[in-house]
Amino acid sequence: MVETVRGPVDTDALGTTLMHEHVFVLNEEIRANYPAGWDENERVDDAILKLNALARRGCQTIVDPTVVGLGRDIGRIVRVADGTSLNIIVATGLYTYNDVPFYFRYRGPHGDGLDPMARLFIDDLTTGIGGTQVRAAFLKCAIDEPGMTPGVERVLRAVCRAHAETGAPITVHTHPHSFTGRAVLDILRAEKADLSKVVLGHSGDSTDLDYLSELADAGCVLGMDRFGLDLITPFDERVGTVAAMCERGYADRMVLSHDAACHIDWFPAEAVPRFAPAWHFEHLFDDVLPALRERGVTESQIQTMLVDNPRRYFSGS
Ligand SMILES: [Zn+2]
Repeated sequence: MVETVRGPVDTDALGTTLMHEHVFVLNEEIRANYPAGWDENERVDDAILKLNALARRGCQTIVDPTVVGLGRDIGRIVRVADGTSLNIIVATGLYTYNDVPFYFRYRGPHGDGLDPMARLFIDDLTTGIGGTQVRAAFLKCAIDEPGMTPGVERVLRAVCRAHAETGAPITVHTHPHSFTGRAVLDILRAEKADLSKVVLGHSGDSTDLDYLSELADAGCVLGMDRFGLDLITPFDERVGTVAAMCERGYADRMVLSHDAACHIDWFPAEAVPRFAPAWHFEHLFDDVLPALRERGVTESQIQTMLVDNPRRYFSGS
């Protein structure tokens, strides 16, 4: 069984699963202070509409790695989940490319004791998020261009401790252009994490087949999860990389997604359709899967990436 927003679901029932999509990405403190342009009901209704459209394409589950630092608000997600048949799996963790928030700066870690941050992650996984009964089912952290800063390392180690205690799988936002997956692997190994339960997110931004093979050979799952962000890596290159990795025998080490959101406030609303017109939940079904088939990726490999790998990731070893 795996926890979703509406409660536990059999991992066999997850079906076609997009492993990295956001319902909302918000700067919550800014939104609360400068609410102009934000209509809560309108945004919730819009999210339900978009997720229901995705469900009609045959997707049954989305995995939402929105944690503290990305504006997680579990009450808002519960309202969305109530309006859609889609399973929504939520995360715990912390999103930063540099330092930890001041809240954590003066709270541990002390010596070998458990980082208080890890304690919060464990509570989200075992008790519920924000006073609700909704439990997180996986852990999320990030590393980007600045590399393994002290803050990033602290979060990653706290994530590993929570993983060790609960068995919850891990998703790491990585920056493959600077090969940060390698630095993540070093810490994961030092912390004795189960590498088969780790998605190295945004690996699909890379076209470096040897780098990708190295991470997959270590046992990790590659997040080919930014289809539609063609500004970072063009469509043909993303598709070509997945096809080439399938040819190399790595279909059981990849998951597919967009890293899209029903609503993200990082960009002016009118900008997204201009700079990334294909960056939406249905791009995979409209464009990516047909292109993969054209390049020789088989139905069985697609099933492996969209159904079997997500099920295995959320199944107890
Ligand atoms: Zn993301």
